[in-house]
Amino acid sequence: MTTARKTKTLINCSSTDPNKILPMKYQWAREHYKTGVANNWTPEEVNMQKDVEMWRSPDALTNEEKRLVLWNMGFFSTAESLTANNIVLAIYRHITNPECRQYLLRQGYEEAIHTDTFIYCCDTLGLDPDEVYNMYLDIPSIRKKDEFVIDITKSILDPEFTTQGTENVRRFVHDLVGYYLIMEGIFFYAGFVMMLSFLRQNKMVGVGEQFQFILRDESVHLAFGTDLINTIVQENIDIWNEPFKKDITDNIKTAVQLEYEYARDCLPKGVLGLNAEVIKEYIQYIADRRLEKIGLPKVYESKNPFPWMSEVIDLRKEKNFFETRVTEYRSGGTLSWDD
Ligand code: FE
Ligand code: MN
Repeated sequence: MTTARKTKTLINCSSTDPNKILPMKYQWAREHYKTGVANNWTPEEVNMQKDVEMWRSPDALTNEEKRLVLWNMGFFSTAESLTANNIVLAIYRHITNPECRQYLLRQGYEEAIHTDTFIYCCDTLGLDPDEVYNMYLDIPSIRKKDEFVIDITKSILDPEFTTQGTENVRRFVHDLVGYYLIMEGIFFYAGFVMMLSFLRQNKMVGVGEQFQFILRDESVHLAFGTDLINTIVQENIDIWNEPFKKDITDNIKTAVQLEYEYARDCLPKGVLGLNAEVIKEYIQYIADRRLEKIGLPKVYESKNPFPWMSEVIDLRKEKNFFETRVTEYRSGGTLSWDD
C-alpha cells in the first residue's frame, strides 16, 4: 500500500488531518504562538488608582481630553469583541492548517483579554456602560469604521462560503486584509497614538499602560496576519493579479480616510500637542508599511511624525516591560515590536 505524503497547505487541505500538528510546516505560526504566550498579561495587574483620581477630579483633565479617552473606549470596547468573533466564526473554519489554528486559538484568547480590559476600565472609572457600548452605533466616526470592516469581510462570514476555486480564495484573502491589515493594523493605531500620548504626559497612566499591552499583542496579530496572507498568496499565486492588488490598495486608502475622520472627531480642537492632521500623517505612514509588508507599492510616502512611538516601546523592551508588575512572566522580554 502506498501512502502518498500529503503536503500541508493553509487552506483547502482536506487531505491532511487538522489534528496532526506535528510535523510542522509553518514555523512562523509556531513563533507567533510562543511570542503570544511570552507576552501574557491580564488587565487587573495594572493599577488604576491614579486614573480614577484624575478622571473624577473636576480640573485634572479638560473636556477635550475626556472626550478623547471616551471616544477611544467607545471604539475599542466593541472592536475587540468584533475581532474575537471574526476569528472564531469566520476565519478559523477556513484555515485548515493545525499550527495556524493553534495560533488563532491564542489570538482569540488575547482578544478576550482585550475585551476584559475595557470591562475593567469601565468598572474602575465608573463609565456608563450603556453609553460606552453604544458608541459604535451612536458616534458616526466609530460606526463608519466598524461598518467598513463588516462590509469588506462579509464574504467569509457567509455560512455558505467556501475557499474552493480561485475567485473564492481571492475573496478570502481580500477579507483577511480587512481583518488583519485594516482593522488591527490601521483602525487601532490612531487610538494607540492618542492613549500613549496621554501616558507620556503622565495622564491616565493605567489606561495608557493597558493600551501599551494591547499594542504589543496587536503587533503580533498583525505579523501573523501578514504571514498568513503572504503564504496563502504564494500557495495560490493565480489570485494575485493587478485588479486584485488595486482592490486591496483602494480598501487601505478608504481605511486611512476613515481613520483620519475618526481622529478629527476625537480631537476637534487638538490636545496634548496632538491634532488630527499629524495623526493623519502617522496613519499614512502606517498604511504604507502595511502595503509594503504584502508586497504592494507605498501610496503616501509620509514620514513617521511620532518616532517616540517606537522609542518608548523599545525603551520599555530594554528595561523589561514587566519589571514594575506584580506577576512575573520570565520570557516576557522576547518580543519584537512592529511600529
Ligand atoms: Fe485585540
Ligand atoms: Mn487583535
